[in-house]
Amino acid sequence: MARKRIVSSAPSEDDRQFDIALRPQCLDEFVGQTALKENLSIAIEAARKRGEALDHVLLYGPPGLGKTTLATIIANELAVRADYTSGPVLQKKLDLTGMLTTMQERQVFFIDEIHRLLADIEEMLYSSLEDFRVDLVVGTGPGARMHSIPVAPFTAIGATTRQGLISPPLRARFGITLRINPYDPVDLQRIVFRSAGLLEIEVEEDAAEEIARRSRGTPRIANRLLRRVRDYSQVRADGRIDQEIACTALDMLEVDPLGLDEVDRKIMETILAKYSGGPVGLNTISAAVGEDPSTIEEVYEPYLMQLGFLDRTHRGRVGTAGAFEYFNLHRPPEPQGTLKF
Ligand code: ADP
Repeated sequence: MARKRIVSSAPSEDDRQFDIALRPQCLDEFVGQTALKENLSIAIEAARKRGEALDHVLLYGPPGLGKTTLATIIANELAVRADYTSGPVLQKKLDLTGMLTTMQERQVFFIDEIHRLLADIEEMLYSSLEDFRVDLVVGTGPGARMHSIPVAPFTAIGATTRQGLISPPLRARFGITLRINPYDPVDLQRIVFRSAGLLEIEVEEDAAEEIARRSRGTPRIANRLLRRVRDYSQVRADGRIDQEIACTALDMLEVDPLGLDEVDRKIMETILAKYSGGPVGLNTISAAVGEDPSTIEEVYEPYLMQLGFLDRTHRGRVGTAGAFEYFNLHRPPEPQGTLKF
């Protein structure tokens, strides 16, 4: 079976196709996140009743938890158009001006990775979010004039994996801030069943549970694992997925019972074995593992911290006693002469 990254942050083209096919279209189809859905449905209903644009929404949480999906659902529930862009794509003020000035009343404007907006684009966004206008300077020198172009009232939906990198003035312009948390295994199992139904895959209950358990709380990973296990079953069995097939396929993919993959293991081995438990700097880990520091920070570490295997300290990353135990490594004794308080 071809080896493919299971955890990696960026969805592949293949993922994108399936993401679209499997994406829930309305709040009822969106599994889990009960409190978030309730808040959102009240805000949507109220905006609909008033016939106004919904307040701007800021969604934050790790990749693959459903931020883009929620933006699509909000647009569907409001029965309005949605335009999609992202921080790194919006390079020129003119690009943003073009999008803002052709905005339809009450429509959704989704900006993925909003923490990566360039400073001048972000500044331009302020007046459009607050007063629904774009300020443009026309001409140069003493003859330069400021032109204000009205923008139809719209709903911006910003998505970010790094809430801490959003500047306070930008954050202040979002009336609704929602955090998407990792999913529990029961919800992930429901997502596996839902996706299996849409892809016409026969999957037994304990097999769906196994896939869910190894999905690191992330629907995109659950869908990815389901597809890989299906590949295995179609080649080595009759296409049906029972627990034995799920376990064998997932073991072959080197996704362990906690959902850790080879990159997680390399990160932990670097900290635990090479650096005796740390502290180790992020850049050192990145060089040892061959992964981008931001990917390690945004994609791998949150789950390792959630499992209680890794702590971030001001001196670097530190492996915990639980991690030494799980990876079956011996914890070196504290150096002699260390004072303990
Ligand atoms: P993000 O934008 O946060 O990276 P996406 O919205 O693209 O994540 O979600 C990835 C995929 O995971 C979606 O296409 C969808 O199939 C699935 N998904 C995410 N959240 C849910 C959910 N709550 N219920 C069902 N499927 C979900």
